[in-house]
Amino acid sequence: ERVLAIETSCDDTSVAIVDRSGFVHSVVAASQDLEHEMYGGIVPEIAARNHSIALIPLIEEAFKKANMSWNDIHGIAVTNRPGLIGALIVGLVTAKSLSQAKHIPFLGINHLEGHLLAPFLKDAQHTPPEDFDYPYVGLAISGGHTSLYHITGLGEYHVLGTTKDDAAGECFDKFAKMAGLGFPGGVKVDQLAKTGNPEAYEFPRSMIHDDTFDMSFSGLKSSGQRMLEQLGPERVKENLPDLCASFQEAIVDVLIAKLDKAAKFYKAKRIILTGGVSANSRLRARAEDLAKRKNLRLVIPPIRYCTDNAAMIGYVGALRMARGETSAIDLGPSPQALASDFK
Ligand code: ATP
Ligand code: FE
Repeated sequence: ERVLAIETSCDDTSVAIVDRSGFVHSVVAASQDLEHEMYGGIVPEIAARNHSIALIPLIEEAFKKANMSWNDIHGIAVTNRPGLIGALIVGLVTAKSLSQAKHIPFLGINHLEGHLLAPFLKDAQHTPPEDFDYPYVGLAISGGHTSLYHITGLGEYHVLGTTKDDAAGECFDKFAKMAGLGFPGGVKVDQLAKTGNPEAYEFPRSMIHDDTFDMSFSGLKSSGQRMLEQLGPERVKENLPDLCASFQEAIVDVLIAKLDKAAKFYKAKRIILTGGVSANSRLRARAEDLAKRKNLRLVIPPIRYCTDNAAMIGYVGALRMARGETSAIDLGPSPQALASDFK
């Protein structure tokens, strides 16, 4: 089973060709970061329009890179939930049209399932550790999602906890924006934090000691805003490394505490990080330290498979289509995941 995959749920347009084994023949993407930066956030209509411009050329590029043609493709996988509705529609109508024109089935995929199975992806440069398999505890952290799962097999995703308000990536980005670092600024906070003191400023760690796996980051965001206002632009500028290091440490402390708690509760042997925030260097270092202390196998997919990408969607599609699953032509997009997507 080999599928062409389309991902347009947010602001990145991505296309991939992937096998059921998780082998990625090609993955290509067009980022819209620059177009949204001047607005300080993602503008849904602009995202949708850019997807419609970028998608067909990217499909051609994916075929060219993989040195393949439609004859090599058995199905089309497309993200149809959750995400920005206009953005999802562009991917979905394209997938449906190609499915009809090429007489091959298509399947709508839950974007989060893609993130959760990304650790299985492989390509010419990367092979996952041989002992990696279900079950594992997964922390999915991005600009739109922050949740913990216990993953016991394909389609078996038990939600353990989730953020009650902001996502961790959103919290990084809002702080970065308030500190004048642009959007999306998570990566800039990470860079500046490297030379800063994480104990220089005090920030709250909401819900860190409660007995759920849930999280909350809006209090931290407000506290960051107050801190920046109190200091004023001059002192903020002078103290950016310390501010970023302290703010980042508060986010990472909460994420690591909850991951640790979940691994303990489920007696996990394996843990994964997935989603764009997995690129954070402090989080990676702390997760490695946790894994070493608790004798856990930690897997973090290469960054190209952590951020939004079509390869992860293609892998899920190939596995599910091999089971005989396909979507009907009237399948719609959905801003939310379905209740049946999780256990
Ligand atoms: P989703 O639709 O799944 O929520 P997304 O649009 O947020 O995805 P991703 O590429 O998965 O896209 O994640 C982007 C997020 O990751 C942004 O919030 C960005 O600031 C954050 N991020 C990226 N690199 C870093 C880093 N080094 N440190 C902290 N945050 C980072
Ligand atoms: Fe995502």
